Amino acid sequence: MKGFFFDMDGVLFDSMPHHAEAWETVAKRHNLQFTARDCYLQEGRTGYDVIREAMLRLNPDKQVSDEEIDAIYAEKSQLFTELGGARPMPGALQVLQAIRAVPNTQIWVVTGSGQRTLLQRLETGYPGIFAPERMITAFDVRIGKPNPEPYLLAWERSGLKKEECCVIENAPLGCRAGKAAGLYTIIVNTGILEYEDFAADQPDVFLPDMYALLDIVPQLIEQ
Ligand code: MG
Repeated sequence: MKGFFFDMDGVLFDSMPHHAEAWETVAKRHNLQFTARDCYLQEGRTGYDVIREAMLRLNPDKQVSDEEIDAIYAEKSQLFTELGGARPMPGALQVLQAIRAVPNTQIWVVTGSGQRTLLQRLETGYPGIFAPERMITAFDVRIGKPNPEPYLLAWERSGLKKEECCVIENAPLGCRAGKAAGLYTIIVNTGILEYEDFAADQPDVFLPDMYALLDIVPQLIEQ
């Protein structure tokens, strides 16, 4: 393996507990059925789609306006910000350093996030590891995960063969995107889900945390 495509939330940053808390609070306020577990299961979908679906579940005949959805999403984003920044995922820095120490390897971040401050966050958490030209964000893609588009774009830009690239994800929909792109997909299960939640998408490797990934970096490099 030469190309390592890292998802961001729940892989590089331990941000999912804050996302889940923010979603759960806002859902209760608006009487929407959306739990913390749903947040983990749906990770990767846009806030717009998640809210629209939850509103229609509540009342299938309701006319849902974009303004309503945007207002709820703004509330969620505000709450998420108030909960404070997310710390780098334990073990991730060591993983990145182990890969970077090997010549001709490429480290990419492939995220559905569209935050303008993303590069700044990466640079603060992981100084000198990520290059702007090796980032695929919400601004680069039309469809997003679980569509394979973001991972296919990273692969195309990497100039590597598919069998030289792997995806590192924490979410079922991210796993689906990686597999649909035809790439070797590693799940690092950093959240509250179980293997069963990923089984349908058939990850190539299923690991409990970033330290377990660190252990297999030498194998992956050889692979
Ligand atoms: Mg993620």
